[in-house]
Amino acid sequence: MKVMKFGGTSVGKPERMHQVAELVTKTKEPKIVVLSALSGTTNTLVMISEELANGNKDKAKQYIDDLEKHYHAFIQNLLKGKVVQQKAENIIKEHFEFLNIILRISFSDALNKDILAQGELMSTKLFSLYLEEIKVDHLLLPALEFMRIDANDEPDLKSIKTSLSALLKRYSDKKIFVTQGYICKNVRGEVDNLKRGGSDYTASLIAAAIEASVCEIWTDIDGMHNNDPRIVSHTEPIQTLSFEEAAELAYFGAKILHPTCIWPAQKSHVPVKLLNTMEPDAKGTTIQDSVEAKGAKAVAAKDGIIAIKIKSSRMLLAYGFLRKVFEVFEKYRTPIDMITTSEVAISLTIDSTDHLKQIIKELEPFGTVEIDKNQSIVSIVGNCVVEQKDVLLKIFQTIHHIPIRMISYGGSLHNISFLIPGKNKNEMLQIINEGVFGM
Ligand code: ASP
Ligand code: MG
Repeated sequence: MKVMKFGGTSVGKPERMHQVAELVTKTKEPKIVVLSALSGTTNTLVMISEELANGNKDKAKQYIDDLEKHYHAFIQNLLKGKVVQQKAENIIKEHFEFLNIILRISFSDALNKDILAQGELMSTKLFSLYLEEIKVDHLLLPALEFMRIDANDEPDLKSIKTSLSALLKRYSDKKIFVTQGYICKNVRGEVDNLKRGGSDYTASLIAAAIEASVCEIWTDIDGMHNNDPRIVSHTEPIQTLSFEEAAELAYFGAKILHPTCIWPAQKSHVPVKLLNTMEPDAKGTTIQDSVEAKGAKAVAAKDGIIAIKIKSSRMLLAYGFLRKVFEVFEKYRTPIDMITTSEVAISLTIDSTDHLKQIIKELEPFGTVEIDKNQSIVSIVGNCVVEQKDVLLKIFQTIHHIPIRMISYGGSLHNISFLIPGKNKNEMLQIINEGVFGM
């Protein structure tokens, strides 16, 4: 059995949804189809919630009405038959009645989650109606019946596995199951979600739970590219990546796969394929347990980085100094990305200014604190890249004129990262493309 996940743009227009149906019915293999909300819907639902939280009911009402119009227009082009169109109208009406009821009751966090769930609930019901209209036998499997998060808001894979297996057993005559990405229930039994962009996570968790043959993530790009196509003129999709390489890339801003989505598939050894709905026969990118080729495979960058240097002669030969420094970041729940140390100083990076003022204040007793804002991390990723002398030589020759603030080498075998001023990032990506990837 395989998993096929389609994102918001893949279901965002009626004709795209038709195309999804074609892709889903193309092969005989049994499958679970995971859908996102129609593109733009979750953003609108977030705005509705925000307006309600701030007591602006009129504005919230306006957003609800505009969204409802969008859905009524969508149905007209998705479905042909009058009867099935009427069914769809009734479903949409029900969901918007629910949103309109929420307008009248006092807002809470649990209600916020209910609002956010409407997008995936509607997209899957509409898709199911379309399959019904074109006479494709299938079953709509409610994610709220099997997707669970635990008390720490982490997916409860064991429980997901148990519930999902039982459901699949009950409907073993079915070949196509359709379910919602993103939404789940929490330990209190309330509707919850896997955070923004979480449909990839749903797909990967389902794939792990059923030990799927493959987890296909369908988007509108032809896989993960070796460089950022928005910045660099010539880039290519990478055919195969290991889970480790993909994790390094997803973290550093290669936007096409949600970072959280890697561990479940990796744990269960299910290959993940990134495929393009606009070009369904293209190879895309396969992420799997291990890869043969060694060397540089891709470069990725992350902007808006803040470098913090703490200089202190007290650090010399001292132990426990790093712990004290890290505790400050822990207190303000601010993740640290890169670190380098010398005997008397430590430089590290963060990507959020939310608590910067307090952090600086609490670091000052340890020594002199210097801040450099607007930095970028540029990471070169590839299987055992740090062991490839020729690649390292090429990297340093290529970037010799770029001012480097920090280097992270040896943290893993598969990544070498540079911190540079943000204004030099585009140039660095371009010259690495030429000097290291020969493109
Ligand atoms: N609809 C949700 C979002 O926009 C989940 C997803 O699309 O992955 O964040
Ligand atoms: Mg997405």
